Amino acid sequence: MDGMIDTRHIQRARAELLSSRPSTTIPSMAAPASPPTNRVDVFWHEGMLKHDTGNGVFDSGMDPGFLDVLEKHPENSDRVKNMLSILKRGPISPCISWHLGRPALIPELLLFHTPEYINELVEADRDGAKMVCAGTFLNLGSWDASLIAAGTTLAAMKHILDGHGKIAYSLVRPPGHHAQPAQADGYCFLNNAGLAVQLALDSGCGKVVVIDIDVHYGNGTAEGFYRSDKVLTISLHMNHGSWGPSHPQKGSIDELGEEEGFGYNLNIPLPNGTGDRGYQYAMKELVVPAIQKFEPDMIVLVIGQDSSAFDPNGRQCLTMEGYREIGRMVRSLADKHSDGCFLIVQEGGYHVTYSAYCLHAALEGVLNLPLPLLSDPIAYYPEDVALAIKVIDSIKTYQKDTVPFLKGV
Ligand SMILES: [Zn+2]
Repeated sequence: MDGMIDTRHIQRARAELLSSRPSTTIPSMAAPASPPTNRVDVFWHEGMLKHDTGNGVFDSGMDPGFLDVLEKHPENSDRVKNMLSILKRGPISPCISWHLGRPALIPELLLFHTPEYINELVEADRDGAKMVCAGTFLNLGSWDASLIAAGTTLAAMKHILDGHGKIAYSLVRPPGHHAQPAQADGYCFLNNAGLAVQLALDSGCGKVVVIDIDVHYGNGTAEGFYRSDKVLTISLHMNHGSWGPSHPQKGSIDELGEEEGFGYNLNIPLPNGTGDRGYQYAMKELVVPAIQKFEPDMIVLVIGQDSSAFDPNGRQCLTMEGYREIGRMVRSLADKHSDGCFLIVQEGGYHVTYSAYCLHAALEGVLNLPLPLLSDPIAYYPEDVALAIKVIDSIKTYQKDTVPFLKGV
């Protein structure tokens, strides 16, 4: 049919794509010599700046008529321009190695998404500007940017799998972790991290863990691997619940996965204002023990700076030091379980300045630098961690009682 994607062709192409890959490229086996570890390989392509989400009241795209100044949609290119420039010109820049991203091929998208859904997006792009779901705009340039975000993340994962580097960061937009196999959601069209996880599995990694610290529930990634015991998805998020038809999942502790995947989706909904010490406690009490038990071959850190103290879209109150500590903890897990290899995938983070600073801090932690390179430019509120600790302790009790692989942890 004219204008439609022939899905049989896609299936064939995907099979060819998979068969053309080396069957076992587990990093520790593939690398002829260990690449330098204290470096982050950043994957980026400027085509992602062409995704224009427009102006309006917050993310609505609406002009109410009584405001003289309409702000940009929170997911705008400025935020990523600052993330780019802080890594290029900030004090961490000597530890960064730059790599050019690339667009994904349509068959590659079927690593995670259904052909019908990809068809819908291709047609939506052809039809012109459209709100795909609440707050999620596919305008001129958006689809090309989405393909680049997906392809760039795949390139970053392949770089690790081929033994060319140990720590890669995919600096991408539009974000991806709300995109489900057949549903766009929350500014996301294609699940960049999910595609990379499936690539790792198809390339010989037996088990992959996803640690998602974006302030919102990584429902898309969870949904993609909900029936798999090969992928442990862990999401620490604000307790925001469902937000409409594109996001029916609640992100609650009892959404544990199904069938073989039961117990392999761990949701950690945290109270507003959890802060640095609360996140550190959740990592230490819930995330680290689960990963130690799971014993992954590959780690994917899904990072959103919208968990920061000044984000318009979140209330979790992490500061630069909180991100730095999470970076350190994930590095330590990678050193123990995946030969130091892990992929970091950019998601949300909407304060144009502070998101860049928090990214810098997270990568300082990832690099295990002994002293901070950059001080926190914004004063913040004192923390009250009592409620967060209570909630985290009760989640721990629930998981120990309910999740088979965590019994006795
Ligand atoms: Zn988010």
